[in-house]
Amino acid sequence: MPQIGEKKVLVTGGAGFLGSHLCAALLKKGCEVLCLDNFFTGRKANIVPLLSNPYFECVRHDITSPYNAEVNEIYNLACPASPVHYQFDPVQTVKTSVHGAINLLDLAVRVKAKILQASTSEVYGDPEEHPQKESYWGRVNPIGVRSCYDEGKRCAETLFFDFHRQYAVPIKVVRIFNTYGPHMSMNDGRVVSNFIVQALKNESITIFGDGNQTRSFCYVSDLIEGLTAAMERSSDATGPFNIGNPEEFTILELAEKVVSLAGSKSKIVFQALPADDPRQRKPDITLAQNTLGWSPKVRLEEGLPETIRYFKSLLFGNS
Ligand code: NAD
Ligand code: UDP
Repeated sequence: MPQIGEKKVLVTGGAGFLGSHLCAALLKKGCEVLCLDNFFTGRKANIVPLLSNPYFECVRHDITSPYNAEVNEIYNLACPASPVHYQFDPVQTVKTSVHGAINLLDLAVRVKAKILQASTSEVYGDPEEHPQKESYWGRVNPIGVRSCYDEGKRCAETLFFDFHRQYAVPIKVVRIFNTYGPHMSMNDGRVVSNFIVQALKNESITIFGDGNQTRSFCYVSDLIEGLTAAMERSSDATGPFNIGNPEEFTILELAEKVVSLAGSKSKIVFQALPADDPRQRKPDITLAQNTLGWSPKVRLEEGLPETIRYFKSLLFGNS
């Protein structure tokens, strides 16, 4: 049984939505956690409850610059994930994925750490294969407005596998599908948080396009279990692993569910579909189920009310 703090873990993007849940889960497992974040989309409020834990430390740092720390494991989550935010400064988004990956992989070589990359279903682009298996190479526009994110993440995967082949770095690559839950920002811009905030304010629900495009939504607690299961697996299990919930919904179905669960008076309005918006998205999770023994447990009908409660408390306090 390892002693508390014996395992030192670096989490980049640790003040963000997923990163803050991951830091909390690792502390619960008895790890010492070092969180790096430049606070571009991350929020101090997400990590305030962790600051009193003597095994938690947070440093403001941008991963496009090198960083040194003696750690056993690295989870690389730093990167804006919402289209609104990753398109705000696309050059910085590419640098975060590519320079960031090189800096952290160099660190992993130096300190002999295991390293996990938070990759994304966006590596599949607008997919022709449905559901998406890890063996599918994807259909990504290399010069479009989403490319800074999609191609940055694809290049990061390349770097991970080249460092693995060239320097025997123990790597884990996890392709995350749309995940939602508490700790998302009100201005995050992704669909679940947008719809919930709009519904709670009784404002129009903005559907982009006709609403027939699909996504598969994973609740945050399931996702975090998937990440730690991948890291804990033996080093030959590199992935890439799809981690997501294979239950698929149209965006229109999501809007209707949110309105109903929030008891909202909001009306649905249709707006222009952004460029290169994928038509469909659903993970094949057979590999994660068989190799990691991982499956999602929380259905959208259970995860949405939790998330609505969280946004209600942000908007109106706990009354
Ligand atoms: P988020 O925007 O809430 O978190 C990203 C964090 O990274 C923020 O705290 C931000 O301040 C930090 N960051 C950004 N650029 C940085 C830099 N250069 N240096 C240091 N910190 C930086 O997003 P999230 O949903 O928590 O996503 C976390 C990771 O998971 C991202 O890498 C994202 O691409 C990946 N991912 C998330 C989803 C999802 O649905 N949530 C899906 C696919 C992939
Ligand atoms: N979307 C929408 N209204 C919004 C925000 C997003 O209809 O207010 C749509 C968006 O066009 C996409 C889907 O919801 O088809 C998921 O968008 P999100 O930005 O959450 O994730 P991604 O497109 O990266 O999967």
